[in-house]
Amino acid sequence: MRSEASVKATDYATDGRTRRGVLARYAELLPLTASTPHLSLGEGDTPLLAAPRLAEWIGVNDLHLKYEGANPTGSFKDRGMVVAVAKAIEAGSTTIICASTGNTSASAAAYAARAGIRAVVLLPAGNVARGKLAQAVVAGATVIMLDCNFDGALDVARKLARDYRVALVNSVNPHRIAGQKTGAFEICDELGDAPDVVALPVGNGGNVTAYASGFATYRTLNRASHTPIFIGAQAAGAAPLVLGAPVLNPETVATAIRIGNPASWDSAVSAVTDSGGCFVAIPDDAILEAYHKVVEMEGVFCEPASAAGIAALRTQVRSGAIGPSLSAVCILTGNGLKDPDRATPESFNPGSIAADASTIAASLGFVGR
Ligand SMILES: *Cc1c(COP(=O)(O)O)cnc(C)c1O
Repeated sequence: MRSEASVKATDYATDGRTRRGVLARYAELLPLTASTPHLSLGEGDTPLLAAPRLAEWIGVNDLHLKYEGANPTGSFKDRGMVVAVAKAIEAGSTTIICASTGNTSASAAAYAARAGIRAVVLLPAGNVARGKLAQAVVAGATVIMLDCNFDGALDVARKLARDYRVALVNSVNPHRIAGQKTGAFEICDELGDAPDVVALPVGNGGNVTAYASGFATYRTLNRASHTPIFIGAQAAGAAPLVLGAPVLNPETVATAIRIGNPASWDSAVSAVTDSGGCFVAIPDDAILEAYHKVVEMEGVFCEPASAAGIAALRTQVRSGAIGPSLSAVCILTGNGLKDPDRATPESFNPGSIAADASTIAASLGFVGR
């Protein structure tokens, strides 16, 4: 154990015996200095799960799911947020601000709470999943609902960060992208190489930018023999990167990717096209079909946006664009518990019957011993 005196005021690290988080694990590959605080909520090191039944449904031989819902606040946003908040503190900020479809705000609120600084989150009124809103509120963030969509909220957040002494922690902050590269590092570290294909949902395009950059870093370091083809999934009602033009009124059940004018447009397009991949528009019914399949077949409950990547991979395999023998990883970006309203109505009200064992056994068709 360290002595009291060796613990710096800026040192938010745990006692060294518990989960390390991405700052400690990938320190040499992140933009850290001696004065970057050792912030961590134990993010990263998420499960990479073989998914044989879902692989069959999709039509590939080798499929893994990177379950980012296992991060501390339930989405991949924690990987980038821990770096962005640590760097904001290092630069002397005491307030962070973000616009969010929900998960960024949940993550910003948690890391600000841990660091003892203020978080202000701007949300599009009426379009934030219940779990995400609850997370931001209970962690003590100042939550402001705006009468506009995400794109409008990001405009306001950018203006506030430009004109006032607050740090913007949206994915336009390069430290967010740097931290999110660790998802690619973990996949290579675990599989021993990069997969052939990575499918993931794309909203603002920060995550696909980060994954492309992360795999490229590992390729340069010779820790991967190649970089993967990216399939970027967008919801059909919010598919600016498929259409090649901003969408004024984006609509989809997948609220995490309900974005009409991606902040990282150019880098997302180069990440996907340079890889030999493409963007795919997925209708809401196909997103929800994949959302149910992944939990029914593999026991992994993700939020609707996350399932868009699965549906997009399936579309590409069906069309022959992706061969069945390629190895694929789907990034399941967020936890299904975030957005329980998208589950079936029965999951909330299964009804009830009398507590009688023999009636229940008969209704279930159980055979007596
Ligand atoms: C933020 C988010 C996305 C979209 O990521 P971008 O970096 O904006 O492209 C997808 N899924 C979930 C669950 C998210 O929280």
